[in-house]
Amino acid sequence: MFDLTGKTAIVTGANTGIGQGIAIALAQAGANIALVGRSDANETAEKIQALGQKTAIIRADLSSIEPCDYVIKEAIEKLGGVDVLVNNAGIIRRNDALDFTEDDWDSVMNTNIKNLFFLSQAAAKVMVENGGGKIINIASMLTFQGGIRVASYTASKSGVGGLTKLLANEWAGKGINVNAIAPGYIATNNTAALQADEKRNSEILGRIPAGRWGDPADLGGAAVFLASDAAQYVQGHVLAVDGGWLAR
Ligand code: NAP
Repeated sequence: MFDLTGKTAIVTGANTGIGQGIAIALAQAGANIALVGRSDANETAEKIQALGQKTAIIRADLSSIEPCDYVIKEAIEKLGGVDVLVNNAGIIRRNDALDFTEDDWDSVMNTNIKNLFFLSQAAAKVMVENGGGKIINIASMLTFQGGIRVASYTASKSGVGGLTKLLANEWAGKGINVNAIAPGYIATNNTAALQADEKRNSEILGRIPAGRWGDPADLGGAAVFLASDAAQYVQGHVLAVDGGWLAR
């Protein structure tokens, strides 16, 4: 039920962090992986090839929607199909709401929500023709909460929750499962500033029932589940993988 043998998954932002953890987990379940991003994903590719799976590195800057069709075409050409899309690439800008700039707003929204929608659209056009597929969006605790000093990030990740449900409504009948994973506090580049801030770090740790930051590998099981036949009747769900953060 959880076997992904013969499937092709596209993972954006897979050179590091959560994207790398998810790409490796999908490969462990048997999928071949297209690694999409603006930086080299050689380390991830090597780890996946060591598992015996195929990889394709597709260079694309996802701050605009211009490369969306190219990404899907390349994945099909290099790996033979698109069964799973993981929209993971994302950025964050921290600034007081009073000082937040248009660039802080646009750069985050363009990558985190606009590109996510149009890449999903490009993938779904192929999935519809092929009888279905799985789309997994990476949401956040700020899909549910307000956060602080991260106005555009909160807007984008709240948008990911809504869009996941909208796309599920439109595409479930076409054989496409659209769901999201909401990671809790995971130790990556994205959260390096929080981890380095002694006060914020201890406040965060004090609220996590599991008592530790998450590791990118902690997201693997949820990703394999949502990419697999085991999730065939799961639609529009935002699955928190947060060490219990939301339960507190
Ligand atoms: P990360 O280590 O900073 O990784 C972000 C990834 O996105 C990198 O591969 C990055 O590529 C890529 N990316 C950013 N802008 C891009 C662009 N314009 N074009 C192509 N690729 C781009 O952060 P992470 O924590 O793993 O974050 C991954 C996802 O999880 C994001 O959507 C983030 O919002 C979400 N998330 C993270 C946490 C957490 O606690 N870490 C919690 C909730 C949600 P480069 O290396 O080239 O920049």
